[in-house]
Amino acid sequence: MKAFMQYVINKDPEEKEFHQAVSEVLESARPVMERNPHYRRTKILERLVEPERVIIFRVPWMDDQGEIQVNRGFRIQMNCALGPYKGGLRFHPSVKLSIMKFLAFEQVFKNALTTLPMGGGKGGSDFDPKGKSDMEVMRFCQSFMTELFRHIGADTDVPAGDIGVGAREIGFLFGQYKRVANQVTGVLTGKNLNWGGSLIRPQATGYGCVYFAAEMQATNGDSLEGKTCLVSGSGNVAQYTMEKLLDFGAKPITFSDSSGYIYDEEGIDREKLKYMMFLKNVRRGRVKEYVEKYPNAVYTETNPHGGTDWPWNHPADCAFPCATENEIDERDARNMVRNGVKLVSEGANMPTRPEGVAVFLDNKLLYAPGKAANAGGVAVSGLEMAQNSMRLSWTREEVDNRLQVIMKTIHETCLDAAEQYGQPGNYVIGANIAGFTKVVEAMLDQGLI
Ligand code: NAP
Repeated sequence: MKAFMQYVINKDPEEKEFHQAVSEVLESARPVMERNPHYRRTKILERLVEPERVIIFRVPWMDDQGEIQVNRGFRIQMNCALGPYKGGLRFHPSVKLSIMKFLAFEQVFKNALTTLPMGGGKGGSDFDPKGKSDMEVMRFCQSFMTELFRHIGADTDVPAGDIGVGAREIGFLFGQYKRVANQVTGVLTGKNLNWGGSLIRPQATGYGCVYFAAEMQATNGDSLEGKTCLVSGSGNVAQYTMEKLLDFGAKPITFSDSSGYIYDEEGIDREKLKYMMFLKNVRRGRVKEYVEKYPNAVYTETNPHGGTDWPWNHPADCAFPCATENEIDERDARNMVRNGVKLVSEGANMPTRPEGVAVFLDNKLLYAPGKAANAGGVAVSGLEMAQNSMRLSWTREEVDNRLQVIMKTIHETCLDAAEQYGQPGNYVIGANIAGFTKVVEAMLDQGLI
């Protein structure tokens, strides 16, 4: 395994995030490789880490001042053994090949866990929608899709949203897809309700992350009711995580953006959450504005010199990291344990660095990695694809019930796999082994692919 990891690093030495994601899966998959020597003979690992296709393209567009801007677009079609490539698009200045590959790699195993027929992919651009006018965002999306459309399709590759890509961007992307492809299909998910979207899709990642946490609590005969919760992020995933926490009678006390975080000791109730959603979704403002309306809350700016001033150093029972990758390091994890956190459910992808994961596992926290806990988003995207194919829409209850069943099943699958390999209660090993085995077996069934 060590030698194999070195092979991955030597191939693309600068892709640190990709190495981190591969290393975590490999570490968990070690006993599976030992039990199945034919995996080694068939070079399954070498095949898994090599994307089936990488598309990188130029995205030229014109800003409101008439200046020409050029961004870089990506789509990684990682693995389609289980179905059409499926995974979000991220628009953020930090986007680069390593981040795209790590997200696509994680997506393959996450999608496998959902029980739905979806392969894994990811895409995006280093374009930053922050501070851009609606017209600039539209021109960018149109240019992005003018190239991307030839690589995707309802039965080939179905992108969705991620950081920086919400309902507005999906609308512009879908509009342009129809113009250039001359097809009205379910080629994107996260569409608005009245033109092909699914009920519960916007809420699905956050809701699913809380459903998963409730399942974990239940294994200890406990519930989320009355629990104090740290949440990071203030985007789609964070907002609906907080909404579902309130439904369960829990008390969220923090949220953040990339500039800083809010600590509201009294708890963020429905009225405050509604204001935060207005602030982020309608005003497109910053979280610091929250304290102008709720002066008892405290705003702390993120340390510009590095260091971690994320909302992880407050007494709480549970934590829901919902912002971005690597937002929890070893020190944060130790602070959380010291402050009484007993459960961590990851809404974001890979928000905890490996040293932080080790702290959670050593201290026997109930710890759910993103690829299990945040799979509700892609699962309901899969349900949106199913509804589009049938030309039907399910009710809110129908979709929400299916989401709950899927999260329950993922939870059981993780526990079963962990148990089988002698690591009861270890959701990291459980999620990685269950996802890995399903994808590998499908690849072997399909010949040398
Ligand atoms: P979003 O709506 O764009 O919100 C992202 C939030 O994270 C914002 O509050 C943003 O703050 C913050 N953030 C982003 N990059 C950051 C950085 N480098 N440093 C600090 N803060 C940062 O995105 P989202 O859809 O909620 O996605 C959040 C996470 O969930 C991501 O890891 C994503 O991959 C994962 N995820 C999303 C879905 C989904 O259905 N949307 C599904 C599965 C997993 P600013 O406003 O300051 O940028």
